[in-house]
Amino acid sequence: ALSSTSNIPGVRERTLVAVKPDGVQRRLVGQIIQRFETRGFKLVGLKMLQASEDLLAQHYASLNRKPFYPSLLRYMNSGPVVAMVWEGHNVVKSTRMLVGDTNPAEAKPGTIRGDFSIHISRNIIHASDSVEVAQAEIALWFRRSELMEWECCDHGSVYQL
Ligand code: UDP
Repeated sequence: ALSSTSNIPGVRERTLVAVKPDGVQRRLVGQIIQRFETRGFKLVGLKMLQASEDLLAQHYASLNRKPFYPSLLRYMNSGPVVAMVWEGHNVVKSTRMLVGDTNPAEAKPGTIRGDFSIHISRNIIHASDSVEVAQAEIALWFRRSELMEWECCDHGSVYQL
């Protein structure tokens, strides 16, 4: 029988991903989710929301002295976003690679930003940049009750048991 107990360390690692308002407007939510699903990662949280200024100020606190900070908050507050939590081995680093460089001009083709965006001010998607940041961002964006514990039936095919 398949078991969720894998001997691979870090299989329970989680990251926060958010399709930004431009990605929602451009109807890219489905294609973005598909890339994570087909890679083999497990979706454990998903919701659409209008991010409040308070939430965004906490989320981007480390950038609050940057010249682009006011316009970044206006952009992120301009419409609904789709927030999700993905789980899997090395998911934080793999997600950053799937997402591509912050500046779409530097993002490789095949990455989400490299395939769907042109300018750094409208780069489609957010993803946590370290395991520690991911834990803080997940706690900021999701309640514990919104995160699902479930077993993927193909676990034994994606990982070595
Ligand atoms: N950003 C921007 N102009 C810049 C740098 C960043 O508008 O010169 C925005 C962009 O949306 C980016 C976000 O600020 O995704 C956060 O910047 P960070 O350096 O944390 O990049 P990320 O982790 O999103 O790749």
